[in-house]
Amino acid sequence: MFLGQFQSIGYDLFIRGLASSHSGNMSIRTGDRLVITRRGCRLADLTEKDLIETGVERNDRATPAAAPELSFHRAIYQSTQAQAIVHAHPPTIVALSLIDDAVVPLDTTGESSLGYVPVLGDGMAPQSKEMVKEVADAIKNHNAVICKGHGIFATGQLLEDAYYLTSILEESCQVLWYLKMLTLQDKDRVQQLLSQKRGSVPITKQ
Ligand SMILES: [Zn+2]
Repeated sequence: MFLGQFQSIGYDLFIRGLASSHSGNMSIRTGDRLVITRRGCRLADLTEKDLIETGVERNDRATPAAAPELSFHRAIYQSTQAQAIVHAHPPTIVALSLIDDAVVPLDTTGESSLGYVPVLGDGMAPQSKEMVKEVADAIKNHNAVICKGHGIFATGQLLEDAYYLTSILEESCQVLWYLKMLTLQDKDRVQQLLSQKRGSVPITKQ
């Protein structure tokens, strides 16, 4: 029933370089159940057997086959009204997350759609309970959050919405990266731009 949506977004995530061959995962909420991509599947080539249905709150026989970040998806659904989640490891987002505690897009699309994206989990184990709680708490106030050195969780009413946020955040991070490269000789100017933006952007949902 949802296969077409998963296939379309999964293919795009891979082709655009937002997820490597067997990484990343996606889910949709259906009441007190969710449908999530299978552990170890290839997002670019999803079939019906790669979609796992399990509980938002409870485990069942299908649970072990679900993607390893199932606990994050569950916690996000439990703490928000989101109906869909995309998790991916876009390289520029991951790179910038290693050197800063938030991403504040300077391009107009990223600025208007995301505004301020926190980087979470400094010093925490990537799959730990405290990391899951940190994500679930922060995503109440943001449509997307970044786990330091790992990747993004983006939410929406549709997979398409969450994919869109993933895509524009990676683009915003590329712009920030280019900006850092272009102004290597003028570090103070970049810092000034970043601090101006941080001062003018609310740190909750746009
Ligand atoms: Zn991951």
